[in-house]
Amino acid sequence: MFGAELWWRGDLAEGTIGRGKEFQLLVNREARATTGCFRTTSLGALSMESGLRAATAQLENRQRRFGLRLLRLPEGEHAREVIGAPTEIGRRLKSALAHGGQTERTVLLEEPETLDAELLQVEEAEAKAAAEVTRPGLTMFTDGSRLDGGATGYSVVWKKGQTWAGVKVHMGNSQEAYDAECAALARALELASQRIATPERVIIFLDAQAAIRRMASDEPGPGQQYALQARKHIATLRQSRPGIVIEVRWCLAHKGVASNEKADEWAKIAAEKSGTHGVEWPNFPVRTEVRGAPLPRSLANLKREISEKKWAEARQWAGGRTSKKKYRMPDSQKPDGAVANSTKRLACRFYQLKTGHCLTGQYLNRTKNRTTPQCWWCRYRTQTRDHLFKECPEWKSQQKALWVEVKKETGRWKGR
Ligand SMILES: [Zn+2]
Repeated sequence: MFGAELWWRGDLAEGTIGRGKEFQLLVNREARATTGCFRTTSLGALSMESGLRAATAQLENRQRRFGLRLLRLPEGEHAREVIGAPTEIGRRLKSALAHGGQTERTVLLEEPETLDAELLQVEEAEAKAAAEVTRPGLTMFTDGSRLDGGATGYSVVWKKGQTWAGVKVHMGNSQEAYDAECAALARALELASQRIATPERVIIFLDAQAAIRRMASDEPGPGQQYALQARKHIATLRQSRPGIVIEVRWCLAHKGVASNEKADEWAKIAAEKSGTHGVEWPNFPVRTEVRGAPLPRSLANLKREISEKKWAEARQWAGGRTSKKKYRMPDSQKPDGAVANSTKRLACRFYQLKTGHCLTGQYLNRTKNRTTPQCWWCRYRTQTRDHLFKECPEWKSQQKALWVEVKKETGRWKGR
């Protein structure tokens, strides 16, 4: 695996086919050693149960992660330019990342600045009370939203008399909720700084601890642009009103705070109904016909895609290598904690039984270790996994205890 980021050229590429296979053999060996599964166990079941992803999925993932690491480098770093460069590795990384177009950029700062505002994380009850209090100055609520389909948007909301005012911004399909939350916070500060009369106090509530943490630092990394924008707007605010109080408060959403609910509602509209009247597109004010070019893809979004691909590829690989009759693919490849924490001997028995390659009469007969598949306890003609767990009279009391427990856990009784 060493250096695979650089030498791996894909499952079917000349030159690396053999290496992928070699590595798969190692993965198989490791998977058998940890689960105690037999050599006959299908590779798909073995991979799912051991939690060890297929070699190709691992190699692809390594390469993508490496690509992402390069993309995260600040502007001007030559290593960042490797991706998409007209060299073999440049092309390979570009296709591994499926990276077309722009990606969020970061910059290296000579002098990082701390955020000149109070960042407060308060207890739930306190946050709720603080959100509901009407105070002098400007109190804003922000929220970012990402729908299952990938559309994102954010809102900034404040009370205006008995109603609400604010903005809804659609961010397209290449961002994460995290980006939307960060963008909303920076935008709230901008809106506050654009007021004709600078308020004596600006308080912004949001339910996104990660975004608040991002604002605290302006180091390179995902969302850095918003941390930088926030600093700029805070400086403007302080310039026009030196004694101004600026607070960013974390407030748990969905706790019945009306303004919070409003922000949530508007952020969803911004994400979902980008054509709705009053929804802005990045960099373009409301009601212009011109729509902004899509935002550069965010690093957080790229990271999510990489992680999703990793699991999908591993699953697909495993799915093509199991017998549907004998083995049901679990929803997740994460090893079962209860099994992993039991004794090695017990865990091995469990995996063997689960994958259907276990020491039963049927299996031993098939592998030519016994002349007959007969049950050696009750002489039933075929000793299968089902027979032992449901029928064999030798294990009556154990079966009863087992199925009572299964019923309790799943509501199901043994089926035949
Ligand atoms: Zn029997």
